[in-house]
Amino acid sequence: MAKQDIPKAYEAKEYEDAIYTAWEKSGFFNPDNLPGERTESFSIVLPPPNVTGTLHMGHAVMLAIEDIMTRFNRMRWRKALWVPGTDHAAIATQTKVEKLLMAQGMKDPRQELGREEFLKRVEAFASESHDTIVNQAKKMGASLDWSREAYTLDEARNRAVNTVFKMMYDDGLIYRGDRLVNWCPRCKSTLADDEVEYREHKSKFYYFKYGPVVIGTARPETKFLDKIIIVHPQDDRYKDLVGKEFEVEWIEGPVMAKMVADEAADREMGSGAMTITPAHSFVDFDLAKKYGFDVVQIIGEDGKFTAAAGSFAGKNAHEAREEIVEKLTTKGLVDHIDEEYVHNLSVCYRCGEAVEPLPKRQWFIDVNKAFAFKGAELANMKKGDMVTLKQLMQTVVREGQIEIIPDRFNKTYFHWIDNLRDWNISRQIWFGHRVPVWYRGEEITVGTLPEGDGWEQDPDTLDTWFSSGLWTFSTLGWPDQIDDLKTFHPTTVLETGYDILFFWVARMILMTTYTLGQIPFEKVYLHGLVRDEQGRKMSKSLGNIIDPLDMIAEYGADATRLSLTIGSTPGNDSKLSEAKVAGYRNFTNKLWNISRFVFMQVEEIHHVAESEIVPKTLADHWILSHFCRLQVDVTNHLEAYEFSQAGEKLRDFTWGKFADWYLEVAKVQKDESTDSILLFILERLLAYWHPFMPFVTEELWKQIDPETMLIVHEWPVVSQSFYHSESERWFEKVQGVIVAIRNIRSEYGLTLKQKVDVVLVGAIPDDLSKLVELFAGVRKLTKANKKPVGEFASVIVRDIEVLVSLEGIIDQEAERAKLSVQYEETVAYIKRLEGKLANEAFTSKAPEQVVADMRQNLEEAQKKAQTLTQQLTSG
Ligand SMILES: [Zn+2]
Repeated sequence: MAKQDIPKAYEAKEYEDAIYTAWEKSGFFNPDNLPGERTESFSIVLPPPNVTGTLHMGHAVMLAIEDIMTRFNRMRWRKALWVPGTDHAAIATQTKVEKLLMAQGMKDPRQELGREEFLKRVEAFASESHDTIVNQAKKMGASLDWSREAYTLDEARNRAVNTVFKMMYDDGLIYRGDRLVNWCPRCKSTLADDEVEYREHKSKFYYFKYGPVVIGTARPETKFLDKIIIVHPQDDRYKDLVGKEFEVEWIEGPVMAKMVADEAADREMGSGAMTITPAHSFVDFDLAKKYGFDVVQIIGEDGKFTAAAGSFAGKNAHEAREEIVEKLTTKGLVDHIDEEYVHNLSVCYRCGEAVEPLPKRQWFIDVNKAFAFKGAELANMKKGDMVTLKQLMQTVVREGQIEIIPDRFNKTYFHWIDNLRDWNISRQIWFGHRVPVWYRGEEITVGTLPEGDGWEQDPDTLDTWFSSGLWTFSTLGWPDQIDDLKTFHPTTVLETGYDILFFWVARMILMTTYTLGQIPFEKVYLHGLVRDEQGRKMSKSLGNIIDPLDMIAEYGADATRLSLTIGSTPGNDSKLSEAKVAGYRNFTNKLWNISRFVFMQVEEIHHVAESEIVPKTLADHWILSHFCRLQVDVTNHLEAYEFSQAGEKLRDFTWGKFADWYLEVAKVQKDESTDSILLFILERLLAYWHPFMPFVTEELWKQIDPETMLIVHEWPVVSQSFYHSESERWFEKVQGVIVAIRNIRSEYGLTLKQKVDVVLVGAIPDDLSKLVELFAGVRKLTKANKKPVGEFASVIVRDIEVLVSLEGIIDQEAERAKLSVQYEETVAYIKRLEGKLANEAFTSKAPEQVVADMRQNLEEAQKKAQTLTQQLTSG
């Protein structure tokens, strides 16, 4: 389009979809299609969103940050790969579909539909949800390589899952055992330890007479078969009873009880004695294993009593609690009841139901068993060394092979691993990777379906984190083909929310170090939660959810991205409001208008090489000096994953320097050389902004070079020869003078039309007098060596005395008061500088330029103080 056709305002929704389509068509999201020789690679996997619904602000912030990383590295001439995918999220998706089916009138969808038909419904839901998610990611501008898209439950990932399962099984790391599991009676499935949440809960706490002791419990319904009393070995109260058996009266009649001494007992708690319930308490289960006590299940998977509960068999355990207490009351066995007992109740993180620990035959991964290390790429480890999974997970972070940003999360990571128990990987749900184990009578086959008839596959499925734990390498073709794996693995960085450090990040480290003997990623960048402007979590019940799609429709994707990245730092929660997004829409418009101005201003739009730049004026030197500084800062910040700092510096330069000052200067010094500088800076500025605001920059790029796309432009480097500290200093002085005159004008309530006469006492270059005249509403500017006679409002800017003639309207008393405030401030400033310069520890370490600048500042301040003294004494 001809340059005069550029619209005055940028309407994001008129451009964004077309630009995204053009990027997709270009093929540049796929690193195999990128132009030029690229030796280094950059790779990152998208944390796969669950196919349970739509994207929220948490996803939007993740997409924004990862897209910045990917676009920056693509422009840095690396083979940049960002792998997309979605997660089947087994239990979450199945639960969601079950709820939907029940809302439509089914009572028990699994029973009514059967495995095959039920799974079809879940898959249909998952597929629809997938399409929505992909569409939303595109709206955000995410430059994901869709040709490599993966799904945690597709065939390729299934081969990876089955292969790893078999490897671990053969190494003796996967075993089947009867263990206590966290059971959710509503989801009818086991939960991993970290899928259990704790909720403060008030209930009754009961004290019962149990033979010679009093025992306390919140759950009398589990106590039917209690017959072991544990006391502390040093508890003198019971030393005569330890090791003895005796009869006690109990719920279903007399039982033979035995007293055992173990340090697990707490002497300070109640009577210091407790009975144990191995089948329904993790602590008691461990004790039972230690001493070989029976483990008998009293509550079943349906939450009802088993036959072991005698006359209560078949009743709902929770509901029968009061009935049991009544029975014990009748027998005179209730000692007392604490009505105000507050404790942490374990609940299912999916549905909130109280978790029931119960014994179950499950598949586990042993995290403490030694096996022969397979790889050769981990610090302090050789192929064949005997290691445990726990050790692998600890070593790679401790040795710095994986760096967690921010590093305060290292502590939480190690703490979690120290407390890690064997990982229960089987789930009693249908949606997921089915456990790759087949049985025929006593025979068992692992990995692939064996030949011959009569084999029956294990009915359970695998924990969803088993497959997402393989994500960095299963998405790169392992185990089928490994070209991508060679180029892109280990991946460069993993970017995700700190809330899934354990759920996901730690399991990826476990799975990858085990399978490949490699780290999955070099860095982990953890972003925080996006909260509302008052700092509250966004939730349906609070009605404070901001939908990223609404923001994109209203303000554009670029504005939405900026509002999520500028001002947010790793590991910390951030606040978002619609006003913030609107503010960044204004900034997007500002960039559009800056570009539009440049395009209109210059004779001809074209690429400008660095060699064509000839700075002539102080303003030229000043802007170029700041621009080369900006390039270094922005590049360094982005390489260091400091996105907010990079964005802030870009914004300050673009608005505060380029637009507010240099474009104004350009209006005055209109010539070929200025045109070149405008174009030189704008072209590169658009490139630096591209990772943050890809749409508007790509659209503007069409004006500069309709033949190429900004997405594959090489990251510009600006010569450090433009660095010019003297000009920076001078120009800042002139800015100071202009600001000072403007302030005086506004203090005296002058309108734009009321021009003033100004006298500058001090040295100021000729070509900048003009700027002062233009920008400060000055009628006549005179330079003088000393203050002339007359009435002036005055301010001192560094070593320049600014005198604004206000004959007739100034208040002498007020002026003097202002002058003495200035004088006091200047004296304090001189003292600070003198103190610093006298400090040898400082002057010997600080860069020469800094010290030199400081000396000059001191000299100027001393002059200023002198002038002020004169003014104050002369009146
Ligand atoms: Zn549940």
